[in-house]
Amino acid sequence: GFRCGIVGLPNVGKSTLFNALTNAGIDAANYPFCTIDPNVGVVPVPDPRLYKLAEMVQPKQTVPATMEFVDIAGLVEGASKGEGLGNQFLSHIRETQAIAQVVRCFDDEQIAHVAGRVDPIADIDTINTELCLADLDTVARAYDKAERTAKSGDKDARARQALLARLKPQLDDARPVREMTLSDDEQVLLRDYQLLTAKPMLYIANVEEGDGTGNAWLDKVQERAAAEGSIVVPVCAAIESEIAELPDAERDEFLRDLGLAEPGLNRIIRAGFDLLGLQTFFTAGPKEVRAWTCRRGANAAQAAGVIHTDFERGFIRAEVIAFDDYVQYNGEQGAKDAGKWRLEGKEYKVADGDVMLFRFNV
Ligand code: GDP
Repeated sequence: GFRCGIVGLPNVGKSTLFNALTNAGIDAANYPFCTIDPNVGVVPVPDPRLYKLAEMVQPKQTVPATMEFVDIAGLVEGASKGEGLGNQFLSHIRETQAIAQVVRCFDDEQIAHVAGRVDPIADIDTINTELCLADLDTVARAYDKAERTAKSGDKDARARQALLARLKPQLDDARPVREMTLSDDEQVLLRDYQLLTAKPMLYIANVEEGDGTGNAWLDKVQERAAAEGSIVVPVCAAIESEIAELPDAERDEFLRDLGLAEPGLNRIIRAGFDLLGLQTFFTAGPKEVRAWTCRRGANAAQAAGVIHTDFERGFIRAEVIAFDDYVQYNGEQGAKDAGKWRLEGKEYKVADGDVMLFRFNV
């Protein structure tokens, strides 16, 4: 599965958000491929296009794409040196492909702050420093190993040694690896080390109310994120958890009263989906209309493989209609008549929203 880890200092609202996500989510029991782990929430990706297709095709069932969020507790100052829950959290973060860092932007005297005061920028520095220290440890070890192997003239080890030597000062400065410009070759080598600060990251600003307008802490977080090239999603975890517990009918009314078009969770899910580098394609037939997930840049054969490995192995052609054409020309037949139906080969780069049908040999 595609996983986004939720990290942050204690008492910033991680669990509240995670529980809201899982409440609004799907029953993992219906998804046998998902491991049932209390820290992993499988959530549907909100996508109005799916429901538009379903309205047109009237299938027996409609299935959204999903992604996973993991609640990762235990990051505190000194965690990389074994403080708090120690560094168990490291292995949990390694298993994710992206990180959402929750920062506390709400003032509430009743809720203790680990550092004794609300200051999201200081919190961000604390978390980022811990992640950099953990990576520095990994890099130092890998460097020693590469150095030994390089002595025998091993070319690969030399390249690794050179890369790791570049990473060290960056991490020493408590700067994340994702901010570095690396060559394609370096990127390939880098993957082996699963560095925490190489993963894409976004900030979730937990604000006191709705969209956080007028929250001075949020402005500071936004400024900081802009400097790093990261994005910020403001939400109010407390309100989101209330929304997630409401029955559907009441939920709409509650949102209307708050002047919101949709729950803030949807913005988090979409931002996580983007951060993971994913895109959506659809299959649409009388049995099922379904949204699927593939990496941006995936080709038609790889997209077929998301549905079934047999589809990828025996791939012949993909029938493709862009979502907008599918809607504008009133479905498959109309799109065909308008010349908007295409037959594509293996190497075709799938576009977000493509409605696809795969032809394959078994
Ligand atoms: P975690 O340790 O980061 O997982 O934090 P929790 O989700 O357990 O939240 C810590 C405390 O802060 C709980 O008592 C929550 O009810 C409270 N809390 C979470 N989000 C908000 C919020 O948006 N506003 C306020 N006032 N309290 C919140």
